[in-house]
Amino acid sequence: MQVTVLEKTDQIGGRNRRVRVGECDFDGGPTLLMMREPFERLFNDLGERMEDHLPITLCDPSYRVFYRDGTTLDGTPNVAQMVKQIEDLAGRREAERYGKLLGDLAELYRVSVPQFVRRNYRSVLDLARPRDIQAVFKHHMLSNLARRMEKYVDDPRLRMLFTFQTMYLGLSPYDAPWVYGVLTYMEYGEGIWYPQGGLPRVSEVVADLATARGATIELGQSVASIEGNRVRMQDGTERTADLIIANADLPYVERELEKRPAKERRTSCSAYLMYIDYQGALPNLLHHNVFFGADFRSNLDAIFQHPLRMPQDPAFYVALSNRTQPDRAPAGHENIFVLVPCPNLDYKMTAQDEQQMQSLVAERLCEVAGFDPANIQAQRTYGPQDWAGDLNLDKGAAFGLSHDFMQSVCFRPSNRSRSNPHLFYVGASTTPGNGLPMVLIGAELVEQRIGDAGYLG
Ligand SMILES: Cc1cc2nc3c(=O)[nH]c(=O)nc-3n(C[C@H](O)[C@H](O)[C@H](O)COP(=O)(O)OP(=O)(O)OC[C@H]3O[C@@H](n4cnc5c(N)ncnc54)[C@H](O)[C@@H]3O)c2cc1C
Repeated sequence: MQVTVLEKTDQIGGRNRRVRVGECDFDGGPTLLMMREPFERLFNDLGERMEDHLPITLCDPSYRVFYRDGTTLDGTPNVAQMVKQIEDLAGRREAERYGKLLGDLAELYRVSVPQFVRRNYRSVLDLARPRDIQAVFKHHMLSNLARRMEKYVDDPRLRMLFTFQTMYLGLSPYDAPWVYGVLTYMEYGEGIWYPQGGLPRVSEVVADLATARGATIELGQSVASIEGNRVRMQDGTERTADLIIANADLPYVERELEKRPAKERRTSCSAYLMYIDYQGALPNLLHHNVFFGADFRSNLDAIFQHPLRMPQDPAFYVALSNRTQPDRAPAGHENIFVLVPCPNLDYKMTAQDEQQMQSLVAERLCEVAGFDPANIQAQRTYGPQDWAGDLNLDKGAAFGLSHDFMQSVCFRPSNRSRSNPHLFYVGASTTPGNGLPMVLIGAELVEQRIGDAGYLG
């Protein structure tokens, strides 16, 4: 097929693009490569080997966790090390139970990915196969994640540690089904990986492979509407195509490009990012670091339960990718990336809110790592308004549509338009969902769907 990619911004990658601030190079959004299989499959499908284009290294420890009570833990996929970490933090009994948790999560992952995730649905009835129903009950897939975790761990710090991963999907563990425990498995069973050049290398390499195979990528081309097989551009010109695959955020595509009334759906939280070129060293930090506030539940309620509010003592994440790849910051500098999960645009963030969030992060970094704001050489922030205005993410929800049960598997918006036979959807807000591996699986699914519709001959 002759393929043309029309990209609104002047850069490829979307959320997964490269950002430069001061003299430092940053991952724009995603910083964790997890679940290697869909990445490897992409290269295999093209007759290539991933290691020839995208060499990756394991981050071990995965990340350092800082709790409000002053304790820390280094998460790792090394089971013996992890058992020791848990014993040091919370005692022998908790450490002895870790194997059972990891084993059950591994089984959940092994069953749910092929059976429920890598699958196109036609209707809810597709879930009525006896073996699906059996799997759902056997693995407690629909139990509440936060509550079920209480059966495996007693220590509140460990409960946070093994459930906060749903925040990657913009979902509270208190609203998530147990099946999303697969995210915890990805971290602790398979580990967190780093591609040489940073996460944006994934998009860059895919773009290179596509153009080498004849695809054309046009930057600075904003689509204004899609009707039948016609795409109208912002500058008034028009293109036609046999097939249109919309990768922009699905609710935005429906409302703004197809001009259809938007269905009421739940969106994820947003993310407030800070990219800091910092002169000096923060030796107490690793490449990946997670900070929890004092009250995890009220933090989650603030950003997920309406009416949304600013969290008073937010959990946040900090990455220093120069730890794994020193040339991403000049010698003597750190490239500090901060991600604070925050409310989407259903809450109007004020300048004062932003100021307060920046101070909270600075205070915490100062406390644990000797961070000094006077050493900031350059800084850029990026928040809910930017996700909406720049990348067209509905309500500035950085992780797209939420993944609560009624917006998962067969209930998630389909990758095929019901009203336009030429139009398909791909990306985080359609099936199977958010996260780079899911978006890659989503690309496989849309290709299947296109084949089923007879487009591939
Ligand atoms: C802060 C943050 C951290 C994350 N961390 C991780 C992580 O560590 N690991 C992980 O696996 N995932 C992570 N994710 C999730 C991951 O980034 C997303 O799931 C994935 O990048 C979404 O890809 P996409 O193709 O669906 O959407 P996008 O990347 O948003 O791509 C859509 C593209 O469409 C373009 N577009 C929009 N409107 C138009 C228009 N009208 N005309 C033309 N072009 C248009 C946009 O400019 C954009 O380039 C994170 C996400 C965020 C926001």
